[in-house]
Amino acid sequence: MTPVEAFQPPSRLLLGPGPSMAAPSVLEAMAKPLLGHLDPAFVGMMEEIKTMLRAVFQTENRMTFPVSGTGSAGMEFCCVNLIEPGDEVVIGVNGVFGGRMADVAARCGAKVTRVEAEWGRIIEPGQIATALAGIKKPKLVAVVHAETSTGALTPIPEISRLARDAGALMLIDTVTSLGGCPVELDAWGIDAVYSGTQKCLSAPPGLSPVSLSDRALEVATHRTHKVQSWYLDVNLLASYWGAERVYHHTAPISMNYALHEGLRLVLEEGLEARFARHERNYLALKNGLETLGLEIASQPGHQLWQLNSVTVPEGVDEAAVRARLLADFGIEIGAGLGPLKGKVWRIGLMGESSSADNVEIVLNALGQILSENTN
Ligand SMILES: *Cc1c(COP(=O)(O)O)cnc(C)c1O
Repeated sequence: MTPVEAFQPPSRLLLGPGPSMAAPSVLEAMAKPLLGHLDPAFVGMMEEIKTMLRAVFQTENRMTFPVSGTGSAGMEFCCVNLIEPGDEVVIGVNGVFGGRMADVAARCGAKVTRVEAEWGRIIEPGQIATALAGIKKPKLVAVVHAETSTGALTPIPEISRLARDAGALMLIDTVTSLGGCPVELDAWGIDAVYSGTQKCLSAPPGLSPVSLSDRALEVATHRTHKVQSWYLDVNLLASYWGAERVYHHTAPISMNYALHEGLRLVLEEGLEARFARHERNYLALKNGLETLGLEIASQPGHQLWQLNSVTVPEGVDEAAVRARLLADFGIEIGAGLGPLKGKVWRIGLMGESSSADNVEIVLNALGQILSENTN
């Protein structure tokens, strides 16, 4: 075989549904020398990660740590630990990720009731109430807070109250919301949550921050059946991330450096200031899109700041525009999925990617391509 050159990634501006741009200091943190995963210095850093995660999730939950794996691993972590075969589970499905959760829950043996909403719209509390009314002993209610496949932000507090009143645990997916808009676990009464590093936390994909309330932990530690996944069993992970430091698996060292730095940046900026930045840049994008004759496709009043589904105008080749953005401008945006395939572009303004400059850059590039298209 002929020698292979070292890989050199081309320069890209990542404005899709994730990964988003990593902060420069996060990438620098990843280049630092490795430590052993039980080295006291590394263990001290793990403790800081847990403390910072609690601040960002706005929770006091003891069981708050990053699962080794991407956002989907966090989804599996929550499902395998909380669901036993035969459990009744209600899941909001208004896009790809609700659908994925329903699939994962069913693989855990759950009897899944899907509460569906049209893609782009939110899950209404009334729909959850109706579903719960038909179930004797619901174990879990799950919804996706920020549906990245459509750009809709489902309000959580009322749905969470309904779950609690029905005696069920409340699980939310905050992969895209965490670090970009308010996520208040304790105030909202959330029992289980997972997120990801590559959306609004400005780090590469590779870890999934999770948190379990004491109520959820009680369920996970008093199961009839063993958790079917060895890797994701919280009963085993607790001894690794807890005071005992029993070897379970080797934590991805450099990714934990990255998350540490990403969280540090979130808290240094301040949650309120960070959310305000995401909102400001969303509004600037929305205005600019309107000037170009484009509009955001998701439900008015519930549009995500960090991910915008943009309706593709009649007669425009959706894929060709994305290809030109990438080839001529080095900009990545996302395509529509499922029923939105070919109908929308998805422009992400997440974490490090959410800046006034980036809004201007993508609007200028889109404007140029679309004007050539119509001429
Ligand atoms: C990206 C995403 C996931 C999956 O995360 P991966 O890191 O791709 O495994 C889950 N839920 C939502 C809402 C997401 O945006």
